[in-house]
Amino acid sequence: MIKWFCSNVSADVALVLARPEGAPEGTKGLGMFLMPRKLPDGTLNKYKVNRLKDKFGTRDMASGEVTFDGAVAYVVGDITKGFKQMMSMVNSSRLSNAVRSSAMMRRSFLEALVSARGRVAFGSSLSEKPLMKETLFELLLDCEAAASITFYTASVYDKSDQGNVEAEGLLRILTPLLKGYICKRARNSTSEGMEARGGNGYIEDWIDSKLVRDAHVGSIWEGTTNIVALDVVRALVKDEAGEIFFNDLYNRLDAITNSLTKQIGKILLQISKKVESQSHRIMSLNGPERELPAKQLMNRMYHIFTASLLLNEAEVQITAQENYRKLYMTLQYIHRYLLSSGLDDLTYFDSSLLQCFDAIVDFDKVSKGTVEGLLENVQQAVKL
Ligand SMILES: Cc1cc2nc3c(=O)[nH]c(=O)nc-3n(C[C@H](O)[C@H](O)[C@H](O)COP(=O)(O)OP(=O)(O)OC[C@H]3O[C@@H](n4cnc5c(N)ncnc54)[C@H](O)[C@@H]3O)c2cc1C
Repeated sequence: MIKWFCSNVSADVALVLARPEGAPEGTKGLGMFLMPRKLPDGTLNKYKVNRLKDKFGTRDMASGEVTFDGAVAYVVGDITKGFKQMMSMVNSSRLSNAVRSSAMMRRSFLEALVSARGRVAFGSSLSEKPLMKETLFELLLDCEAAASITFYTASVYDKSDQGNVEAEGLLRILTPLLKGYICKRARNSTSEGMEARGGNGYIEDWIDSKLVRDAHVGSIWEGTTNIVALDVVRALVKDEAGEIFFNDLYNRLDAITNSLTKQIGKILLQISKKVESQSHRIMSLNGPERELPAKQLMNRMYHIFTASLLLNEAEVQITAQENYRKLYMTLQYIHRYLLSSGLDDLTYFDSSLLQCFDAIVDFDKVSKGTVEGLLENVQQAVKL
């Protein structure tokens, strides 16, 4: 029997799914087994790596094609529940994929910022050019947002691991959301980071080309973007995860006390209610019609949830440090990902970025006044 893809093929042990003789067809009949590379007497187990894959990226980890030929493997857990057991591992592997992609986004931003600050062209440093500020800002916004929801999901994962049933339900929908959006977005961020370094970005002397290559696999393995988007819809329909998801979000907005963050919370609540009703409508559809909008829904759910986390962090930062930096990021996030459309007047390119760019990228203080100006812009966009 051949396994067409096997990552980390040189590992000492592998967890595999296999169908015991006489077990039923389909995923129900699969058992989970632990297969060691070496047997207790020190001899090699009976499987062969036919060849290593010649991969586009992740070349520092060997992926191979494997033929099993009488290999010894030990049953893990309940032999009739192999697939279910594997699926619980999928939560951690999808989360770890999001961590990996978020980290690559962050590295791409830092590389881009350092190179733009160091390179002088047309009379000044590239980081002083308005359009480069915008490019760098978007890179940072994406990676800060990704970090926010990834860390939050990790905390939900811990709670679920300790037996919290609500956390288990929330984790069910958050992991495909992260995997679907962040792993795909990392492709964009790493490419933008490469371009920000100009011609040098394309040259193997720098890290950018490796980041671009490595980022691509994130949206393919552990379920492609389409497959995880369908899984988000499945989590809504079959596992009824929508209620937990929206309640978690609404409770966070409810807990906001600062007057400025409250105003933004109101806008976000309005948008989130819209997305919730869209999700109900999609759930009421059948078959192909339900599948068609799955990716759009996944992206929107990702954005509203992430925006609520950013807003929560903003409130903490204002209270602790009287710093409005995170609130600035939140407003920009809401404006860019939830309000601007293909026909707006491009007001989301708020000129305040020209003034506060350095404070933003250096994690310094942003004033309340700067945020109030941006809020007016956002309120205007809500009315449009
Ligand atoms: C480097 C690497 C390492 C890997 N390591 C492992 C490993 O260790 N273990 C392991 O088990 N697997 C591994 N894989 C396999 C990987 O998980 C699969 O390749 C991936 O899940 C996609 O499945 P597929 O190749 O069968 O693509 P296909 O299922 O043929 O999909 C092709 C395209 O069709 C789309 N598609 C498929 N079904 C639908 C649908 N219903 N609706 C809409 N679109 C759809 C997909 O999104 C995709 O874009 C690895 C892959 C790579 C590239």
